[in-house]
Amino acid sequence: MVVGAGIVGAATALNLQRKGFDVTIVDAQPPGEGASFGNAGITARCAIVPVPVPGIIRKFPAMLLDPMGPLSLDFLHVARNAKWFIDYLLHGRASEVERIAGELFKLTDGSIDEHLQLARDTGGAPWVTERDYLYVYPKRRDFESEAFAWNIRRSHGIEYEEVGAAQLREMEPDLSADITFAIRLPQHGFALDPAKLVKGLVETFCKNGGRLLQARAQGFESGETGARALITDTGVIPFDRLVIAAGAWSASLAKQLGVRVPLMSERGYHVQFANPGICQNHPLMVTSGKYVATPMADGLRLAGIVEYKPMDAPPDPRMTDRLKRHARLLFPNADLDDAETWMGHRPSLPDSLPMIGAVPEHKDVFMAFGHQHIGLSTGPRTGRLVAQMVAGEPANQDLSAFRVDRF
Ligand SMILES: Cc1cc2nc3c(=O)[nH]c(=O)nc-3n(C[C@H](O)[C@H](O)[C@H](O)COP(=O)(O)OP(=O)(O)OC[C@H]3O[C@@H](n4cnc5c(N)ncnc54)[C@H](O)[C@@H]3O)c2cc1C
Repeated sequence: MVVGAGIVGAATALNLQRKGFDVTIVDAQPPGEGASFGNAGITARCAIVPVPVPGIIRKFPAMLLDPMGPLSLDFLHVARNAKWFIDYLLHGRASEVERIAGELFKLTDGSIDEHLQLARDTGGAPWVTERDYLYVYPKRRDFESEAFAWNIRRSHGIEYEEVGAAQLREMEPDLSADITFAIRLPQHGFALDPAKLVKGLVETFCKNGGRLLQARAQGFESGETGARALITDTGVIPFDRLVIAAGAWSASLAKQLGVRVPLMSERGYHVQFANPGICQNHPLMVTSGKYVATPMADGLRLAGIVEYKPMDAPPDPRMTDRLKRHARLLFPNADLDDAETWMGHRPSLPDSLPMIGAVPEHKDVFMAFGHQHIGLSTGPRTGRLVAQMVAGEPANQDLSAFRVDRF
């Protein structure tokens, strides 16, 4: 049984099914309606440098005061969760960032291939494609100011090439003339519609005999070897093995199994323009605004913003207004009239690493959540690794940094 039908749960369930397990997915919502719905869709092999890096604290005031900035917070919420924030920022020292990057690369390396392999022969296949990823900058010196992050990427063999103004104009003719430099990353890709990708995976899972149960998991009934049945709002369901992949909502379930999970929602937003009327050939990371612009199947999507507020606080329209203003600057000729907005929850732990592994004291329960900003990229590999763990197969890789009892 798998709780959660986001990209992580869907990938886990499909991998288990492919190994011959008889699998039920339990989700309170239809598949792909959590964070996996509205992300930027990038299968980002390069996304191994966590948000907290040396010097980040000094940048906070400017980011918060900037009306176009990527950061927003509710001070009371931050004060209430001070321990999480202190721990999070303490992981931003150089040696720790390098360690975290090495661990994350175990999950991001090959992410587009993992996606293509997972989606093969499923309803998800039309929704994922290989494509170079561009980091775009006003000037070359803006790229140089990020040398710390690029050196880490390079040290892991992440290849890239520099793109000058003229070549960039050919590659992306509608991009603002203020952007004159880019970094081109091969071995990347993106989901043309992340929600349809997940729905397509689950549809095939169901066609192949898997069950999808719409129910909210609330707790557990235990036997001698630990949890044996899931208590839901529609009844109690026994299981042989259970995987918790409930994204940002996983902590309360984990707590009932005696696992301390300091999980925080890093709220993020998107704006999607249905008829932008521009040519966009590559997904773009716009580092000046820390957002991503993706040419989705149904329009141009700008996704970004990190907002620290309670999970149940209503979306803040000022955040999507910021993204709309960014869109105007990025593509001056785009038609931005027809826009839809969305807010979702990145599931984040203080060390920016997910929890993947077996639960001590409950030998048949596994966890797979906490993929913060890169869960779309790393979901398929996570699903494959968890399916191996459930099947008792060796991982042939040191995954101890992701262990469940590390906090
Ligand atoms: C603005 C934004 C942009 C992003 N861009 C990218 C990107 O470009 N690339 C990338 O790799 N990542 C990106 N991410 C991160 C990525 O979206 C997440 O890391 C990923 O979707 C997490 O997947 P998940 O399956 O763990 O969680 P979710 O997709 O949130 O799924 C969790 C599921 O669990 C269900 N659930 C929760 N509690 C219960 C319960 N008690 N009972 C039953 N069901 C339950 C929910 O209904 C939900 O369907 C972005 C995130 C945001 C917010």
